[in-house]
Amino acid sequence: MQDHDCIFCKIAKGEIPAAKVYEDDEVFAFKDINPKAPVHFLIIPKKHLASLAHADAGDAALLGKMLALAPRLAREQGAENGFRVVINTGRDGGQEVAHLHMHILGGPQPWK
Ligand code: 5GP
Ligand code: ZN
Repeated sequence: MQDHDCIFCKIAKGEIPAAKVYEDDEVFAFKDINPKAPVHFLIIPKKHLASLAHADAGDAALLGKMLALAPRLAREQGAENGFRVVINTGRDGGQEVAHLHMHILGGPQPWK
């Protein structure tokens, strides 16, 4: 199910430009437009899922694939000494874009 007003569906389809980090038939990854860390990109499913709370057991393989990609892509993007994975979910979870996305945040943090 695609939501044609969804900005991340449009990014996954190439209709809105984004700095692509990775793509396969099910998953798209791109740099966050407003980075909160030296390395900050988002991993999304191409299929429109409004949030993690909208995923079900049938999405387990897709979610596993996204999670398993994180360390490889983080390393490729320059996060060599660790990273955070954040999935804001729902209004009280601070989710602003209603298409499931995994934030990967890493890189040197000189303020620490
Ligand atoms: P949320 O608060 O929903 O977890 O995070 C949404 C993230 O998407 C934010 O970090 C925001 O900077 C990013 N974002 C929103 N719109 C765009 C866009 O059009 N392009 C890119 N690359 N990132 C976006
Ligand atoms: Zn979408």
